[in-house]
Amino acid sequence: MITPKVRVRFAPSPTGGLHLGGVRTVLYNYLFAKKHGGEFILRIEDTDQSRFVPGAEQYIMDCLQWCGLMPDESPVKGGAFGPYRQSERKEIYRRYAQQLVDDGYAYYAFDTTEELEWMREKYKTPANPAPQYDASMRTKMRNSLSLPDEDLKALLDAGTPYVIRILMPVDETVAFEDMVRGQVQFHTSTVDDKVLLKADGMPTYHLAVVVDDHLMQITHAFRGEEWLPSAPVHLLLWKYLGWADHMPQWAHLPLILKPDGHGKLSKRDGDRLGFPVFTMNWTDPKTEETAKGFKELGFLPEAFVNMLAMLGWNDGTEQEIMTIEEMTEAFAIERVHKGGARFDFEKAKWFNHEWIKRSTTKRLLPDLKQIFSEHDIEAPEALLESIIPSIKERCTLLTDFITQGSFYFKAPAAYDTAAVLPKWNSDKKRFFDTWNTELEKMETWTTEAIEQSFKDTAADFSIKPGELQLPLRIMLVGGKFGPPVFEIAAIIGQTDTRARINKAATEFTDMQAPV
Ligand code: GLU
Repeated sequence: MITPKVRVRFAPSPTGGLHLGGVRTVLYNYLFAKKHGGEFILRIEDTDQSRFVPGAEQYIMDCLQWCGLMPDESPVKGGAFGPYRQSERKEIYRRYAQQLVDDGYAYYAFDTTEELEWMREKYKTPANPAPQYDASMRTKMRNSLSLPDEDLKALLDAGTPYVIRILMPVDETVAFEDMVRGQVQFHTSTVDDKVLLKADGMPTYHLAVVVDDHLMQITHAFRGEEWLPSAPVHLLLWKYLGWADHMPQWAHLPLILKPDGHGKLSKRDGDRLGFPVFTMNWTDPKTEETAKGFKELGFLPEAFVNMLAMLGWNDGTEQEIMTIEEMTEAFAIERVHKGGARFDFEKAKWFNHEWIKRSTTKRLLPDLKQIFSEHDIEAPEALLESIIPSIKERCTLLTDFITQGSFYFKAPAAYDTAAVLPKWNSDKKRFFDTWNTELEKMETWTTEAIEQSFKDTAADFSIKPGELQLPLRIMLVGGKFGPPVFEIAAIIGQTDTRARINKAATEFTDMQAPV
């Protein structure tokens, strides 16, 4: 038998921000597809018109692009199995829904919203607080199983709106082999007669996902564990539609948990604990509220996907920092953990710090140019390029380059006076004034020459250079951080160095003067 080419899909509903768990699903799909020389498809599951959010589809594609996880087929890219937007495939689903009715696996149901509410009220008992439309209930409702033939015909002839529901078998066990969880079994009595086609002619997720996975020749389906309860419905649909022999192999991926390990990580947890849960900033078009994303917080996409890969998978070694190519090479679905993975923001930042340290200046430059310009700091490219190597060790987030590096481009707006004033005195003031005139005379402006002149003048004043270096740093940088101070002076140049010393020395003395 010829093994079919691996084809996997990410099938999001465009309803809002892209949760990091969603990106991890994309990533495992992508790694598996690339590992096996297969194809990765993006399918937009937008059949639920009530949940449709404008802009969400474009946002998902922007997120995938930022992560570097580009689909081989998608609504934008096209492909041989399109359209890739379910709302554009409406007619296809109706045909299969009809086939299921004709074959006796599904039925028409005419119940109105009020009738359904009535049913839930009337049959509610302490033992069954939420009665479902299932085998025990379907005979009591208005559908093609319970109604006499002539009533059914009259309703259909009159064009009465109906939904199509799956006829769940009464007492069967359905089982399948999940790539992550092994044997999974369900008893059909626990599942209700799910709606497959809605009154507006749109399919529900259950019908659309099966029809599309079949027509798009999907071989492996990776999705979040929250979809596991739907699996029996899908399994039966594959069987009833006559496609059971090529049902995709499923992998239900474990949840990403809150940091304390209790329950699924939600956007609210992120808000509460102060970290993002979405990939990129997401602005809700209704409320206009913006939820922060990893990108805008200052994550590198390489670090973000690396961190996500390790939330629920490892290659069996201790190695944690991996490129997408290394992960593709090493990826094995058997090594995806069954249990949920706790999200740890400190660990996420550690990944980013490691990636910043390992990234070349060339890699970081375009992102940093953008960040500096967003902060209204004019950072000439050549200068920016030259400072990246000396400060990247100190940057955990890309935005840290602003705090760690803006002094190269503009004089400090404020000083860490607590670090300098207690030991500031008139001798030091005189030292800096004198040294400043020395600096004016200097012809070669190098780190070594500046340092030498500093030491010489300090010797003239009989002050230990060590006592003068901290004030100098505060004058140039504003705080107690940054690379070696003479290097900084060399980079910011003679004019700026002298101006900063002059301004700060006067301010320190003024601030110290008794009121
Ligand atoms: N549309 C579903 C979602 O929003 C897809 C689930 C699946 O992959 O089967 O996640």
